[in-house]
Amino acid sequence: MSETDSAKNPYPWRMDDLVSLCARRGFAFPSSEIYGGINGFWDYGPLGVELKNNLKVLWWQRVVRERDDVEGLDSAIICHPRTWEASGHVEHFSDPMVDCRACKKRFRADQLDDAGPCPAREGTSEHDFTDVRRFNLMLKTFIGASEDAAAVAYLRAETCQSIFTDFRRVKDTSRQKIPFGIAQIGKAFRNEINPRNFTFRSREFEQAELEFFIHPGERERWFAHWLEERKRFHRELGFHAGRLRVRPHTSQELAHYANAAADIEFLFPFGWQEIEGVHDRGDWDLRRHTEYSGKDLSVTDEETKERFTPMVIETSVGIDRTALALLVNGYEEQKLPDGETRTLLRLHPAISPIKVAVLPLSKKLGEPAQRLARELRRRYSTFYDESGNIGRRYRRQDEVGTPFCVTYDFESGTDGKVTVRERDAMTQERVSLEGVPAYLQDRLEVVL
Ligand code: ATP
Repeated sequence: MSETDSAKNPYPWRMDDLVSLCARRGFAFPSSEIYGGINGFWDYGPLGVELKNNLKVLWWQRVVRERDDVEGLDSAIICHPRTWEASGHVEHFSDPMVDCRACKKRFRADQLDDAGPCPAREGTSEHDFTDVRRFNLMLKTFIGASEDAAAVAYLRAETCQSIFTDFRRVKDTSRQKIPFGIAQIGKAFRNEINPRNFTFRSREFEQAELEFFIHPGERERWFAHWLEERKRFHRELGFHAGRLRVRPHTSQELAHYANAAADIEFLFPFGWQEIEGVHDRGDWDLRRHTEYSGKDLSVTDEETKERFTPMVIETSVGIDRTALALLVNGYEEQKLPDGETRTLLRLHPAISPIKVAVLPLSKKLGEPAQRLARELRRRYSTFYDESGNIGRRYRRQDEVGTPFCVTYDFESGTDGKVTVRERDAMTQERVSLEGVPAYLQDRLEVVL
């Protein structure tokens, strides 16, 4: 799908404003920036790593910890190269590509709407495209001391393949029976032809994937179950209704082994785009790995004694894409009654990188304010800031999504109270010093 999809852009700000906020405040910025960056690679700074960690913890909580039928895994990034032959990636994991003979730029042949004019041709702005070729997206490396064909290995293009190759080990050690799932979060790599739209399409990214193994008779039921669960997860994150949708794949889009697939999409400034895929993969993966490894990956139903290869329902969400969607969803340039504009990130508190900022009204109040910050820090990601005027300090927290600011003022020493300010409504409340942890607990530790 084109990344400048025709959907109307509902955002009254430019993507560049958000990208610049991310760099300025340390969410995400180009990798190797001092060398001019490296296309398709991004570094997450102090706030970005907190944001992504919060998202991953929440995913793990919902998908693994809260269920007794899902087990976790953390597998190596590099797998045996046969893995990728079995999965079909070596042969088929490619995008159609064209080059422009004039400007020498390379494009995805299915995204030419976004190619823009050619800067290098005289008398026309049209590109001079070559024929379409297939370009394999697997990133190659070499293992060991020799760099010959025998030493070639691949950086994984998706995290799920080791879930299939480790299937038997995990099943036996966890004593799970079908139906059950295996989940993991980790890096994946794709040599994307045209990385773009900030972190949306990068060459190194993180996926959180679940492979749920089921009896062949239960495909529809489990597909519906997981699609519903995953929709619920995204709704919990606070995406605006109307900016999130489920797009079932058409029969032409379905892989030959798949029964059903749907994308969960978010409306970015550059159009509706997938953030998660939910797929019925049939028994394709386990069968292929059985064939290529010679190891039987079928199971026996203990009651009926039936022997079968489990079918798989997969949910695969991009952590970077979801993080970007959350930033887009929360970003706002708000006109205030006094004519000023404040930049605001309306992030769900569970996702906010900083949960609470402690702000003494004056440096002279630093000691008791620090004491409070130290206490809060044991529980929440806490930021302490004593410099600059209080209005400016509030604004700095608003634009990184901090849900609460606690101000220690000149009265606090005598009345034992502080002011707690809420980010979205900007309401302020006097709360007793000892009551602050409980006040925050009620508002931050809500079960989503
Ligand atoms: P697309 O069509 O956008 O390339 P895909 O259908 O190839 O995505 P999947 O293989 O289903 O994606 O991967 C699952 C998830 O991994 C996607 O929903 C997305 O969130 C994430 N993802 C895939 N490719 C990238 C990438 N290049 N950069 C960031 N995230 C990615």
